Amino acid sequence: MADGCVHLESVENVKGPRRRECDTCVTMGASWVHLRTCQTCGVTLCCDSSPNRHASTHARAQQHPVAASAEVGERWLYCYVDDAFAEY
Ligand SMILES: [Zn+2]
Ligand SMILES: [Zn+2]
Ligand SMILES: [Zn+2]
Repeated sequence: MADGCVHLESVENVKGPRRRECDTCVTMGASWVHLRTCQTCGVTLCCDSSPNRHASTHARAQQHPVAASAEVGERWLYCYVDDAFAEY
């Protein structure tokens, strides 16, 4: 686990995506590159490589610090506050 990030340390059960799609992009008719699942509320949104960056916007607006990759075969968490990664 990453040193000094209390947010990553506080994640006990990693939430996976309910569906592999960005809820906000689907509403907008937009597309995305990769998906991230918020570990606070469980919403799945698009990554910073996507045009709309819904996951990082959500993290800042809602103050939900940690997201997990929702990509098949990827097992890592990211903290937006500390810019910290952890694999699990
Ligand atoms: Zn953190
Ligand atoms: Zn999106
Ligand atoms: Zn959230």
